[in-house]
Amino acid sequence: MQIFESSLNGADRPCAPKECAQCGGCRTLWYNGEYPRNHGADGNKKVSVRCFRCPQCGLTWSVIPEGMLPYRNLPVARFEELMDAELAGEGARPPPTVNEKSSVRRACKNLSQRISLLCGLLGQQMPLEANADLCCFWRALRKLGPTGHILVRLARDFKTSLLACYRSLQAHWAREEVPV
Ligand SMILES: [Zn+2]
Repeated sequence: MQIFESSLNGADRPCAPKECAQCGGCRTLWYNGEYPRNHGADGNKKVSVRCFRCPQCGLTWSVIPEGMLPYRNLPVARFEELMDAELAGEGARPPPTVNEKSSVRRACKNLSQRISLLCGLLGQQMPLEANADLCCFWRALRKLGPTGHILVRLARDFKTSLLACYRSLQAHWAREEVPV
């Protein structure tokens, strides 16, 4: 499973999930090493991803480092800035690189296919117009709070993310067949 570092609220490791039929969430997870992940606009920086394992049920967790998106190199803050530039007409400094431009293009494509799903999950806080138009959706989303908080909320409450549904945000016993 994957969990956002910011959702640990300062704890040094995740808690085992209470819904686990085997361990009932009562075990302290063991540190299980770390691996490097690329990040930054061009993916040329490295950050360590810490991993933990439940000694009873064997479930493993990796912690998405602060400020990062699942499976994307672009940091959340830069993603937010570039999306604001693309969809809300605000300038980005520095202007997007070629790689960033293509990341934003892909993000817009993914997001535009997930508007009604995300509006459904976020409920009444999203205005009706947001359901039809990506610019409108993005502006409404930005009013809900920092993108980092929305990512944590989507992962914690709905086991999904902004740009895709990742199976890795769910425990294996809770997984429905969703595209990776
Ligand atoms: Zn366990």
